[in-house]
Amino acid sequence: MNKPFFPHTAHSACPHDCPSTCALDIEVLAADRIGRVRGAEENSYTAGVICAKVARYAERLHHPGRLLKPMRRLGAKGEGAWGEISWEDALDLVAERFVAAEQRHGAEAVWPYFYAGTMGLVQRDGINRLRHAKRYSGQFDSICTNMAWTGWVAGAGTLRGSDPREMASSDCIVIWGTNAVATQVNVMTHAVRARKERGARIVAIDIYDNATMRQADMALKLRPGTDGALACAAMHVAFRDGHADRDYLATYTDDPAGLEAHLASRDPAWAAGITGLSVDEIEAFARLVGTTPRTFFRLGYGFTRQRNGAPAMHAALSLPAVLGSWRHEGGGAFHSNSDIFRLDKSEIMGALDRDPGVRHLDQSRLGPVLTNEPDALFGGPPVTAMLVQNTNPANVCPEQRKVRAGLMRDDLFVCVHEQFMTDTAKLADLVLPATMFPEHDDIYRGGGQNHILLGPKVVEPPETVRTNHFVVEELAKRLGVADRPGFGRTERELIDAMLLTSGRGTLAELEAGRWIDCQPDFADAHFLNGFAWTDGKFRFKPDWAGMAAPNRPPPSMGLQGPHDRLGGFPDHLAVIEETDAEHPFRLATSPARQFLNSTFAETKGSRTREGRPEAMIHVEDAERLGIAEGDVVALGNARGSVRLHAKVTDVAKPGVVIHEGLWANGDFLDGEGINVLTGADPVAPFGGAAFHDNKVWMRREG
Ligand code: SF4
Repeated sequence: MNKPFFPHTAHSACPHDCPSTCALDIEVLAADRIGRVRGAEENSYTAGVICAKVARYAERLHHPGRLLKPMRRLGAKGEGAWGEISWEDALDLVAERFVAAEQRHGAEAVWPYFYAGTMGLVQRDGINRLRHAKRYSGQFDSICTNMAWTGWVAGAGTLRGSDPREMASSDCIVIWGTNAVATQVNVMTHAVRARKERGARIVAIDIYDNATMRQADMALKLRPGTDGALACAAMHVAFRDGHADRDYLATYTDDPAGLEAHLASRDPAWAAGITGLSVDEIEAFARLVGTTPRTFFRLGYGFTRQRNGAPAMHAALSLPAVLGSWRHEGGGAFHSNSDIFRLDKSEIMGALDRDPGVRHLDQSRLGPVLTNEPDALFGGPPVTAMLVQNTNPANVCPEQRKVRAGLMRDDLFVCVHEQFMTDTAKLADLVLPATMFPEHDDIYRGGGQNHILLGPKVVEPPETVRTNHFVVEELAKRLGVADRPGFGRTERELIDAMLLTSGRGTLAELEAGRWIDCQPDFADAHFLNGFAWTDGKFRFKPDWAGMAAPNRPPPSMGLQGPHDRLGGFPDHLAVIEETDAEHPFRLATSPARQFLNSTFAETKGSRTREGRPEAMIHVEDAERLGIAEGDVVALGNARGSVRLHAKVTDVAKPGVVIHEGLWANGDFLDGEGINVLTGADPVAPFGGAAFHDNKVWMRREG
């Protein structure tokens, strides 16, 4: 093999929890050092553009505060006293504590807990191999996609849509409930191209004037949790003004006459009262999308993080069906391509060992689980041992006080395998240092686009850090399951086998090609061969309780939340946390541009640009409460309270407070983060966390 020369450019993919999954070119300066990270020009979705936080990834990879040694807790939990421990001893300790937990309460007392700190299929999902082989408690993955995916699938039957690159051929792009400038920059790349080349109009729908709203030609600022009402009024206008595509409706939808009759009373005046938009704004939006055949609805996650998120997504998705936008190139809708990749992860996940009888626990309800609330434990034993990879629940999970109280339990052993001393790692018994994506092999799917991408190891990790894969494999050996299917293979072997089994070629081919474009053809992507139901018809009237969906909880958990409130045609479902006399404000916890969930909250570049944790308070509310710019304010509700600084602004509607994060808990004035205020009650019908749906009180503290 040729000796590598430096500097050179290596190819990779962004591993972060972002729909864009950008193809990357990484400048490699030395065997263990990277320089600038750029977007791959040749990738038709990335198109050479990535976000600033990943462009300066060297800052994160070579961060002086990175975890480099396994450490064992010395003092009390959370006290911060640590002693070094060897990798061998650390892994022996985890195995010993897992065995002890199993002997005392059964295997379900152990809960491997993970999420999307990396989206790599090997390093993220391999923990499930250990889970299934040992019959440890299952994880119901509810924290991110549940409402959005459920709402989409309720109408379309599957998770795919118009090719996201088609935005460049649109005459109107509706960016609904996603701050694309901050959270998926490539949407803007394609939308702005359409504006430049075709004079396309960009419409943004959101709850505050974020960076995407500021770039839009039409910005609709509505109250949180009211998107379903806007969609209904736009459909009302389409029927009223002759913009509904009646031929399309007759061929492709289940009950257009029923829908039209239902919407008769959902006019713009009705929606204005709910959304806070003016009748003129709603009419203008409805007219624009109703008279622009090539309208592309880019539906995001943000507006679904409400207790009515699933029906809101379904209502928004119903609009292009009424307009027949799907017929046209540059038209239709897109949310996620998660169903197009068809990668068989069975071996990585150890699916052959999966026992459907094993208890599942809700990832979003970590607080109630760890504080032993009976309904959260589903009749099983308490959780007394955990391995945490790729997530920082002490910061990102709702009902943070319960999460902390649970993690502080003396009878709970927690091993956190991490890159930094996160809020969760601080409360652990054992902390193991983990590799970052340029230091290990993995494979990625672009949920917000159409490629499978390879992310090979491009630099050597520090000598003392280990991959997630290594930890899973080593624990399997110590726990006596290393002979089970999927174990004993390298990352590259697992990737190669998965590609072959899935009919996606080989690792060598992917390495040569860098990515695989999985985009279905136009007719399939636009559902011109029918939607993914046996009769091929879009569902205006979903069978919420009976439908299959990617996020449906296992039968042992049943339907979630107030599911009996769902039913019938698209509507505004009033199940959100409405304000009341004690809690006159609605709080949304929106993503900051320089952070990604809790990742990047440790890098100087991101922290400097973001400033400090702030509550954005409308100028009228501030005046009434005597709050000035920079004052300390407290926000609170029944779950707790946090103190942070005020930013007086008119970006949201009066009565709405925005906090952009996620900042580390320690960055707040009292050491508790914003998720103290968010609820872990499951959202109907298939669970999820309503991060932007909180009623709070607010007062000036100084
Ligand atoms: S835009 Fe998203 S996928 Fe692209 S580099 Fe940034 S975080 Fe990664």
